[in-house]
Amino acid sequence: MEKIPITVAYGDGIGPEIMTATLNILEAAQARISVETVKIGEQVYLSGQTSGIDGDTWESLRRTKVFLKAPITTPQGKGYKSLNVTIRKSMGLFANIRPSKAMHPYVPSKHPEMDLVIIRENEEDLYAGIEHRQTADVMQCLKLVTRPGCERIVRFAFEYAVNNGRKKVTCMIKDNIMKLTDGLFHQVFKEIGAEYPQIEKESKIVDIGAALLADSPENFDVVVTTNLYGDILSDITAQIAGSVGLAGSSNIGEHLAMFEAIHGSAPDIAGKNIANPSGLLNGALMMLSHIGQGEVADNIRKAWLKTIEDGVHTGDIYEKGVSTQLVSTSEFAQAVIDRLGMEPEFLKADSKTSGKAFHFYPYVRKDVKKELVGCDVFVDWRGDDANEIGQMLDSISGEKMKLKMITNRGVKVYPNGFPETFCTDHWRCRFISKEATKHSEGWDYPELSFDDVLNLQSQLSSEGVDIIKTENLYKFDGELAFSLGQGE
Ligand code: NAD
Repeated sequence: MEKIPITVAYGDGIGPEIMTATLNILEAAQARISVETVKIGEQVYLSGQTSGIDGDTWESLRRTKVFLKAPITTPQGKGYKSLNVTIRKSMGLFANIRPSKAMHPYVPSKHPEMDLVIIRENEEDLYAGIEHRQTADVMQCLKLVTRPGCERIVRFAFEYAVNNGRKKVTCMIKDNIMKLTDGLFHQVFKEIGAEYPQIEKESKIVDIGAALLADSPENFDVVVTTNLYGDILSDITAQIAGSVGLAGSSNIGEHLAMFEAIHGSAPDIAGKNIANPSGLLNGALMMLSHIGQGEVADNIRKAWLKTIEDGVHTGDIYEKGVSTQLVSTSEFAQAVIDRLGMEPEFLKADSKTSGKAFHFYPYVRKDVKKELVGCDVFVDWRGDDANEIGQMLDSISGEKMKLKMITNRGVKVYPNGFPETFCTDHWRCRFISKEATKHSEGWDYPELSFDDVLNLQSQLSSEGVDIIKTENLYKFDGELAFSLGQGE
């Protein structure tokens, strides 16, 4: 049968040892793959490529569309970009799938029943990497959440649940605070979730959600969440399942899929032939399912479970009284190979990943009516009295615009601020139309033109106001599309 080309990187630290072990097991199980080896990581970084990846590797990835990657070492120091983030974002790997299943009692866990999957959005949120220093005191990181990004990951999570026999999808967000960004993620979860009546749906604010996940992970099945929460939650779940060294993960996109262990390059044990290859092996099993060789993956998974069950353990999971044999990386691989064709007796082999391809729905942007109703002008000002800057800006509004309020770190400080509020040198000054009126339900904001906003800015600038940046305030389809200041 035809062999499927895959790109393989042996990585750094323990990477070469665990990759060799993994590929030996795949070969013994007669996986139909042909390997294209590429160099990434430390060597490439130190040769002057700050991304840790070179042109030949990109070409190979474009050709094979499948990447089995060992962990790499990111050199310390400024200027080196995270290779993983570069690959994920450059190749559009929007979904990170991280299963966590306890292997108790062979790998002790306080949560023997846990068997869940975290599906993490992989490209957006605070990982957009747009950061600025704006004043002497203030740094900013932009949190970007998009409708197409949310639709893709949420649909992916529901399709994953259906294809893998999962019963429930939990959405983790913090939309009580971030009403627009996390609010959009939650809204899309409700919209797309409605198309999957067979799947139970629940939503949790991420703080209590994380606490429940750590306390009783057996109550969760599939969790879908944004980038940063997913990063944190998936490390928690891998750890409480028993060992970070056992978990594999996949990163799925339209043009490439990348498979790896979730742990790093473990430089402290590199070159000693003692690392556990199971994390990378589990990543490789997800890869085999992805390329349509699910039966090979199942065969290896059973042999691997049998090895764990037999107590043949590497040092990281070795425990007296539970383990029967302490083995090296290569001996562990051989033990799995020796058990190919055998069935585990106690550990269930049912937690496999379906190879069914994800159908990419084209994103359809809806027509929306957009009205400009104001502008937030961010000002660098070194004083401490909000009334002083407030009165100054009150006196120099543009032809058509007036100051509505000022916040400092999101809290309203003018007019009628509290003297107790701590202020930095970063003032968000909200300007709206002079015709705006307040009524019992809130404010009525007449439409402005962009020239009105430019006119305001040039007037502020000519009066010596140090503008850091501006943000237009819009209504979309008649709804206010900006958050209110605390106390506004
Ligand atoms: P790490 O995961 O490499 O190691 C943490 C601890 O776990 C160490 O004590 C290590 O010995 C142990 N460990 C990890 N994998 C193991 C395995 N398979 N078998 C046995 N023990 C194992 O995390 P770290 O020390 O924080 O990071 C080391 C390097 O890895 C850093 O340069 C970091 O940037 C990089 N890293 C890479 C990736 C990746 O390529 N996907 C992910 C995380 C960290």
